[in-house]
Amino acid sequence: MKCRMCGGKAVIKLPAHNIGLCSECLILFLRRRVERTIKRLRLLSPGEKILVAISGGKDSLSLWDLLLELGYEAEGLYIDLGIGDYSQKSEEKAVGFAQKRGVGLQIVRVKEHFRGLGIPEIARRAGRAPCSVCGLVKRYLMNQAGKKGGFDVIATGHNLDDEVSFLLSNLLSWQRESLARQAPSLPDRQSLLRKVKPLVLCSEREMAAYAFVRGIDYILDECPYSQGSTSLRYKSVLNKLEEHSPGTKLHFYQGFLKNRSLLKMTGEEPELHPCEGCGYLTPAQICSFCRLRERVLQKV
Ligand code: SF4
Ligand code: ZN
Repeated sequence: MKCRMCGGKAVIKLPAHNIGLCSECLILFLRRRVERTIKRLRLLSPGEKILVAISGGKDSLSLWDLLLELGYEAEGLYIDLGIGDYSQKSEEKAVGFAQKRGVGLQIVRVKEHFRGLGIPEIARRAGRAPCSVCGLVKRYLMNQAGKKGGFDVIATGHNLDDEVSFLLSNLLSWQRESLARQAPSLPDRQSLLRKVKPLVLCSEREMAAYAFVRGIDYILDECPYSQGSTSLRYKSVLNKLEEHSPGTKLHFYQGFLKNRSLLKMTGEEPELHPCEGCGYLTPAQICSFCRLRERVLQKV
């Protein structure tokens, strides 16, 4: 198979685009794709100070690499979730990348906010699933770090597979509010920083190939709590559909982007007020992070 761009030997076939590419052209192809996604969806403006949420995995480290290559001022934020070996190894990957590229990386530790407790203990004490607690804590700490550091926007490494599995799950249960909020860019609102997802049109497989050809050292292990999650189930169903009809995921997501305005009209946005504990915007009197902290720390 020949590379569609340069005619050399292709190393990867991308059935969704009906092309084969060599390593060098794959890098250019994905760089252009991300550049166009940013422009078309108006995700970032030149000169903005970007905080990239880094998990140590292929998507977030590749996103950081791509943004730096595209000339953006992008610093990393690693949140240590306190999930044993997994957190330790992923932190090493994040630190390794930052050192190699000579770029800034902030590290925030969940344990410092919860008197020595990590996500597994917090979840146990709160009687909730680790992922639901983790999502809440990550969103809060990410926003706090972004605000404190004077960043304009937070960028996350959600890829096409993440977005279509979330979309499918929202559609199957007709989560209207979630559907209305699902977007490649969430605008800033007072204490909430703007959030963008520049990889929404790049598949998981493309990002793994990108990380490989760019020599990015990322954590291969998955978080132990991701086993058997519904999002993995939806991803596997979507992969089967993609196998039969390449391009299904991309069409599904692009169709969603085109029709989002219809959903916006039906989605009811809750009114937000500053939390009495910390000032973070919330539909309740006290935000869910402060409520979680109070509940969990009472038992320490
Ligand atoms: Fe957090 Fe769950 Fe993701 Fe693990 S799988 S990092 S617990 S959200
Ligand atoms: Zn609060």
